[in-house]
Amino acid sequence: MLKYCTLCVTPDTRPHISFDNHGVCSACQKAKEKETVIDWKSRKKNLEKIFNDFKLSKAGRYDCIIPVSGGKDSTYQVHIVKNKYKLNPLCVTFRTLARTPRGEENLQSMRDMGVDHIDISPNPLGVNSLTKMAFLQFGDCSLLDHLAIYSIIPNFALRLGIPLVVWGENPWMEYGGSPKDSDIPRLNRNFLRDHDILKGRHVEEWVQSGLNLEDLQTMIYPSEEELDALNYTPIFLGYYLPWDAKQNVDIAKKYGFKVREKGPIMGLYDYADLDCMNIVIHHYFKWLKFGFNRVTDNASNEIRKGRLDRETAIKLVRDKDGFKPPKEYIQAFCDQIGISEKEFWSTAEKFRNTNIWKKNSKDEWYIEGWIGGDEMPDRFPHTQL
Ligand SMILES: [Zn+2]
Repeated sequence: MLKYCTLCVTPDTRPHISFDNHGVCSACQKAKEKETVIDWKSRKKNLEKIFNDFKLSKAGRYDCIIPVSGGKDSTYQVHIVKNKYKLNPLCVTFRTLARTPRGEENLQSMRDMGVDHIDISPNPLGVNSLTKMAFLQFGDCSLLDHLAIYSIIPNFALRLGIPLVVWGENPWMEYGGSPKDSDIPRLNRNFLRDHDILKGRHVEEWVQSGLNLEDLQTMIYPSEEELDALNYTPIFLGYYLPWDAKQNVDIAKKYGFKVREKGPIMGLYDYADLDCMNIVIHHYFKWLKFGFNRVTDNASNEIRKGRLDRETAIKLVRDKDGFKPPKEYIQAFCDQIGISEKEFWSTAEKFRNTNIWKKNSKDEWYIEGWIGGDEMPDRFPHTQL
């Protein structure tokens, strides 16, 4: 049976989350710490020192790389790095094969802030074979996207001789991880390995029958020796400056960032998960594997920011958390990797975690002890595009 944080609505099935003796989750503890313990002034000074050091050492060239997806955080990162601290960044995107038209528009408004941008499209044969394999084996349709962005960036840093990389948030600081993980300023290879982002494998280990390493060149993470020789410095901006999605979107809108007019595609935010169709499917699998989805994530975040009370959050979870991705997104994903919709749903059912999900007398699935209501059958519809 799921156990929930006593302050927010996060269940104990969330990967990497932990609870203290009062039943408070590590993300809520961290949120408190961010308000009371962390010395933001000194962190900001440290950031300024890093920016100054790299700016001075690289006159006339790019000062840093900003990995961008086309979301609101990308625009915010460019705002801070270029407009506030006057660095000359190179923006780099892994071009997902499932990019949405809104994602494309928002990337253009980011470029219009006055930055050079590399929009790299890795070999679709490699992308699709690996995506299919990861989906069927792990129920994860975005593994390749994570593998790609986390590998492409150090590769470009090396090839272009740009040591400083300015990532956005530290997800473990914002959404819950162990104290050790949530307080690290850098995103390096060990960070990826320790958090199982890549299912404990590097691309070389994914190469087996049917997959060709040459089709996945950009996914190979460079060696530590090469990165050390470059003085590779991949920092989380969210470690040095307080991070808030809502603040970021307000700033991004000033630069032309557009939200989804019809409301959130999944969860509570009309400004999130807009750039890639597959990420929405990726989130949905959390519902099957862990018994929660984006409404839980977003509502918990809003509680931590003091903008939502727990009772309203529970109601939102009950009404919306199990929504399925738009049918069009699922169709597009099936076409992309060459499976039928029937195969998609049989794979989805394979990943429904029966430690959490039980069946009622009508043979319908429900989450035992769900915060939205026990024995509520999973009858959620698809989001309408
Ligand atoms: Zn909590």
